[in-house]
Amino acid sequence: MMHDPAAEKKQKNWYRCSMAVLLAAALLLSGCTGGGSVLSGPVRETDSKGRDGSALKIVTTIFPQYDFVRQIAGERVSLQMLLKPGEETHSYEPTPRDIIAIQNADLFIYVGGENDAWVEDILDAPEMKQVRRLRLVDCTALLKEEHVEGMRHKGQLCPGTEEEEEENDEHVWTSPKNAMEITKRIAEELSALDPEGREGYKANLDAYLEELAALDRQFREITQKAAARGQDLLLFGDRFPFRYLAQEYGLQYYAAFPGCAADTEPSAAMMAFLIRKAREEQIPVILKMELSSEQIARAVAEASGAEVRVLYSCHNLTAEQFEAGEGYLSMMRKNAETLQAALGQ
Ligand SMILES: [Zn+2]
Repeated sequence: MMHDPAAEKKQKNWYRCSMAVLLAAALLLSGCTGGGSVLSGPVRETDSKGRDGSALKIVTTIFPQYDFVRQIAGERVSLQMLLKPGEETHSYEPTPRDIIAIQNADLFIYVGGENDAWVEDILDAPEMKQVRRLRLVDCTALLKEEHVEGMRHKGQLCPGTEEEEEENDEHVWTSPKNAMEITKRIAEELSALDPEGREGYKANLDAYLEELAALDRQFREITQKAAARGQDLLLFGDRFPFRYLAQEYGLQYYAAFPGCAADTEPSAAMMAFLIRKAREEQIPVILKMELSSEQIARAVAEASGAEVRVLYSCHNLTAEQFEAGEGYLSMMRKNAETLQAALGQ
């Protein structure tokens, strides 16, 4: 399959058109809303005050920033995540209700980048002017999306390391160091909107930063020990949204597809490459991310005698994980254990 700019343009036009229809539908509907998301936090009388006099409304697209706000603000704000538990981020489409939630938000936090083109389109509308917004990609230094040898991208096998022109990798939160920068920015935003809550936000932020620092030390210890034994290679039978994690801790990787790739059809050449690498490098664990197909990772693992494990990118959690009270920290601690196994410890 060849990369076809004409087809891509047509698809983009269609997409912009359907966004406009969706936005119009949402604006027609606004005023007759009711019933918040299951994730809306409980609101108390003494809470913060938003534009409309009720508690501050914070709306997020996906899980990392939802959890960061939850850690810093607790129940002081009304918090809603647009993605439902268990929903896959890359195939998410906003509903009119989601658009109204964004419109009514005192602060809307999204990731920014290629996968959030729909957000930028919605925020361009004049009705959205008053919505205060924060993008995760503006909180940290950015890396370009990388194409390592053997990856399949836009229907073709990538020949080797190259960085796609002007395409930033948006998965900034996958490094605990970046999570620290993001949570600091979120605390600043909350304090600006709700000066009376400033001290509480600061105390919660400081406690959370300590936990993130401990997580960072744990990752560093594991990866430094592995590097001393010459082990720094991960193999992903999936998309690879962990560029920032890999960069922070000096990890190398092979993967089936880049970060937010829309095309995740396996090809024979890609499968052969991953299986050969898994055997040559005696990779003990083939990794995949959550909420995605296990097909490629399973096939590579079976052919090379490895096991399959999940490294959580935290784009989203399952409903069970939500109910169990899991968060970014607890999922990342599971990742530390998984990394240890994947690096042969
Ligand atoms: Zn992604």
